[in-house]
Amino acid sequence: MASAGGYRNGTQKAPNLRNSSSFKSKLPPSASSNGRRSSTAIDAVYGRVRVAVRLRPRNAEELAADADFADCVELQPELKRLKLRKNNWDSDTYEFDEVFTEFASQKRVYEVVAKPVVESVLDGYNGTVMAYGQTGTGKTYTLGRLGDEDVSARGIMVRSMEDILANICLETDSVSVSYLQLYMETIQDLLDPANDSIPIVEDQKTGDVSLPGATVVEIRDQQSFLELLRVGEAHRYAANTKLNTESSRSHAILLVQIKRSVPGREADFSAETDHSSHLATNYKPPMLRKGKLVLVDLAGSERVNKSGSEGHMLEEAKSINLSLSALGKCINALAENSAHVPVRDSKLTRLLKDSFGGTSRTSLVITIGPSPRHRAETASTILFGQRAMKVENMLKIKEEFDYKSLSKRLEVQVDKLIAENERQQKAFEAEVERIRLEAQKHVMEAERNYAEALKEEKMKCQVEYMDSIKKLEEKWSINQQKPTNNARTDGSSITEEVSELKILLQNEMQTRKAAEEEINKLKEQLHMLTKPGSAGRNSDILNLQSMLEEEIRQKKRLEEEVIVLRSQFSQLNMEAGQRASYLDRSRSGAGLPGLDSLSPLRNLHCKDATNGERSSITNLHEQVGLHKILSLLESEDAAVRINAVKVVANLAAEEANQEKIVEAGGLNSLLMLLSNSEDETIRRIAAGAIANLAMSESNQELIMTQGGIALLAVTAADAEDPQTLRMVAGAIANLCGNDKLQTRLRSEGGIRALLGMVRCRHPDVLSQVARGIANFAKCESRASAQGQKAGRSSLIEDGALTWIVQNSNNEASMIRRHVELALCHLAQHEVNARDMITGGALWELIRISRDCSRDDIRSLARRTLTSSLTFQSEMRRLRIEL
Ligand code: ADP
Ligand code: MG
Repeated sequence: MASAGGYRNGTQKAPNLRNSSSFKSKLPPSASSNGRRSSTAIDAVYGRVRVAVRLRPRNAEELAADADFADCVELQPELKRLKLRKNNWDSDTYEFDEVFTEFASQKRVYEVVAKPVVESVLDGYNGTVMAYGQTGTGKTYTLGRLGDEDVSARGIMVRSMEDILANICLETDSVSVSYLQLYMETIQDLLDPANDSIPIVEDQKTGDVSLPGATVVEIRDQQSFLELLRVGEAHRYAANTKLNTESSRSHAILLVQIKRSVPGREADFSAETDHSSHLATNYKPPMLRKGKLVLVDLAGSERVNKSGSEGHMLEEAKSINLSLSALGKCINALAENSAHVPVRDSKLTRLLKDSFGGTSRTSLVITIGPSPRHRAETASTILFGQRAMKVENMLKIKEEFDYKSLSKRLEVQVDKLIAENERQQKAFEAEVERIRLEAQKHVMEAERNYAEALKEEKMKCQVEYMDSIKKLEEKWSINQQKPTNNARTDGSSITEEVSELKILLQNEMQTRKAAEEEINKLKEQLHMLTKPGSAGRNSDILNLQSMLEEEIRQKKRLEEEVIVLRSQFSQLNMEAGQRASYLDRSRSGAGLPGLDSLSPLRNLHCKDATNGERSSITNLHEQVGLHKILSLLESEDAAVRINAVKVVANLAAEEANQEKIVEAGGLNSLLMLLSNSEDETIRRIAAGAIANLAMSESNQELIMTQGGIALLAVTAADAEDPQTLRMVAGAIANLCGNDKLQTRLRSEGGIRALLGMVRCRHPDVLSQVARGIANFAKCESRASAQGQKAGRSSLIEDGALTWIVQNSNNEASMIRRHVELALCHLAQHEVNARDMITGGALWELIRISRDCSRDDIRSLARRTLTSSLTFQSEMRRLRIEL
C-alpha cells in the first residue's frame, strides 16, 4: 500500500467525521445537556472510532537479538503518523488519531485514549476502550496494569475507575463492575470462575446486550476495585493454567456500569410543606443516566494469521480466530458501509455490538512491537486499526426516567405522609375528646350552678312569700280586732262625752230660759215704770237701760256659747257616727270609696249619722243662721273660730247646703281662713270644707275665680299635717276633674302643687294626688280627642310621669288604680308615646294589660297599647307580644 494511500486511508473518511482531527474531541454540548425528557436519547452525534497506536519499547530479547536491525516502524508522533518499513528504502505511512512512542507514559495514554471515553460514560453514554495487538506488545500493560510497585505504571482500568469514583456522588450514583473472560466462545466469570458459561442476552426492543449471569460488584472505593481486579486476574491466570492455555489467548472484558441521577432533575422530596396537593405536578420522575464502560483486553492477534496448530490447539485457534476474525469482518463491513455486518458470528462481536457501529464512544489502542521479526503481525495490526478508524458510531445518551427510584422515594414519602396523617388524626381525635370533656364539664358546672341558683331563688321566694303572708295575716287580724276594740273604747268615751255635753247644753238652755224669763220680768217692770205719773223715773230708766244692755251682752255671749256647744255636740255626734259606720264597713268587708267617688271627704259629714244628729246641725244653722255662723269664723276667740269652721265644714259636706254657703260668702271666708289662719286645725278643716265645696262644678269655677288654686298651692307647700295635705290634694283633685279649668289650673300651679305633695308619703295624700292626676289625664284625654288640646300632656310637661311610673304598681290599691287609669289616659295620645317609652311607662302599661286585677282597666290598657302605632313598633322591637 502506497504511503499516500496509507495516509489517504487514514483521512479518506475524515470529511465525514466531526472532530476527526483530534482524538480528544469532546462531545458537542447538546450531547451532555441535561434537558432531555425521553427515556432514550433522541439526539445523537456521530462519533468515529478513535484509534491510537502504541509502540512497546524493545524488550531484553529484542534488544539482544535485533540490536543490529532497525525497527520496522518509525513513528512521527507530532504528525500522528506511523511509517511501516517495507524494506530499507520504502515504507508505508499511516495516520492515526494518536501515535504513542515507546516513551509514552501510562498517564498520557490514559488521558488521550481513555479519559474522553470515561467522561462520556459519566455523561450517560456507552464507551469502549479496547486493546488490540500481537501477544506481548503491551495490551495488558496498557489496560490492566495495577501499578502496585509503581503508581505511574497504572493502566487504563485503574485510572478509569479513579476518574469515575472522583466524579460521581456515591449517595446518588452507583458504579458496578463485572469482570469476564471470553475463551473459545465461552464466557467465564472472573469474579466467580465456577460460573463459566454466561449467556449473552439481547433486548429485542433496544438491542442492548447484557450478561445477566455475571457477578456484579458495586464499587465504592478504589481499593475494593483493585482487589477485584487482582482477584479477577488471579482467576484468569488459574483458569488458563488449568486449561494449559495462556492468558493471551482469551479476551478479558471489564464491564463498568455507571448509574447517575441527573443533577437538578430530581423532584424535591425534602420540601415537607409542598406535598400532597402538588404531588402530581411536582413529582416528575428523576432522570437516570446509565453509562456502560467496556474495557477489552483482546487475545493476541497473531493467531489470526498463524493458525497452523493442531488438535485442541487447532480448535482453540479456530475459536480465537472466530472471535477476532469475526471482529475484523464486522469492522471491515462497517468501514465499508456494508449492508450486512456479521455481528452474530461470534460472542465477542455480539458483546461489542454497541462498541462498533453502535451508540458507544469507542477508542482502540493497537499495540505493536518494534521488532522487524514480527513485521507481518505489526502490519496486520496497523491495518486493523486503520479499518477501525473508519467505523462510525452514533453516540446516544442513555438517559431514562428513574421510575424505580421515583417509586421508592414516593413510597417513602407516602409512608411518611401516612404516618404524619395518622399522627394528626390521633392528635385531632385526642383534641376533640379533650374539648368534648371540657364542654361536658362546663355544662355540668353550669347546670349545677343553675340548680343552686334556682334553689336559692326558690328559697328566697318562699321566705318572702311566707313573710308577706305573715304580714297580711297580722294586718288582717289587727283589722279584725283593732276597730272593734277602738270602737268599743272610743265609742264609750264619746258616748260619755256626748251625755256630758247634753247635760251641759240642757243646763245652758235652762240658764238661757231663766235669763229670758228674767228679761221678760224686767220688761214688765219697765213698762210699769214708764207709765205716766211715775215719779223719779228718769234715774230708774237709766239704770234699767244699762241693766238691759248688760243683759243683752250677756245674752249674746250665751248665744255664742250655745252655738259653740251645739256645734261641739253635733261634731261629736258625727264623729261617733263615723266610727260606727267605719266599723260597719270593716265588718261587712266593703272596700274604700270607689274611684268615681268624687269626694274623699264625705267623712266630714256623717252619711250614716242618725237623722236626729243631722237635723241638729241643720237646726243649728237654721236656729243661728248661716250668716251668724260664717261671722263666727272671724271671731276673736280661737275656740269659736274652730267650732265655727267645723260647723261650716259639716254644712259644706251636704250638697244641699253648698250653694247657700257659697251664696253667703262662705267660700271666700274659708279661703281667707286657709291663707290667714295660723292654726293647723283650722286650715285642715277649712281645706276639707273647700274640698267638699269643690265637688260642684259651679263652685269649682268660683274657687278658680277667687284665686283659690293659689291659696291651695300655698297651703300645699306649707302644710305638714298629712290630713291637711290630704284635704288640699282632694280639693285640687276635684278641680282637676273639670274640663273647663284645665289650662288655668295648670298655669296657676295646680299640677305642680299636687305633685309637690307627694313628698308626704301618707297613702291618703298620695291617693288624692293620684286621683287628681287621673282626673286631669282624663280631661286632657277628652280635650285631645275633641281637638282642643294639642301637644303632649301637661302632666308630662310638669314632670309627673316619673311619679306615675313609680307608683303604677303601688301596693295601695286606690293609688294603683288611679295611676293605672292615668297611664291609660296618657297612652291614648300618640304624642305622649315617645315620652312614655323613654320614661318606662310602656313596661307598666304592658304589665297592667297583663296583670291588672280589674278587667276594665286591663282591657283598657290592652286596647290602648294595640291602638298606638308607636307602642306597637316599640313592642315589636322589644319582641313583646301582648
Ligand atoms: P500483551 O498483553 O500484549 O501480551 P504484555 O502487556 O503482557 O503484552 O507485555 C509484554 C511485556 O512487555 C510485559 O513484560 C510488559 O511489561 C512489557 N511491556 C509492554 N509494553 C510496555 C511498555 N510500553 N513499556 C514497558 N514495558 C512494556
Ligand atoms: Mg496480555
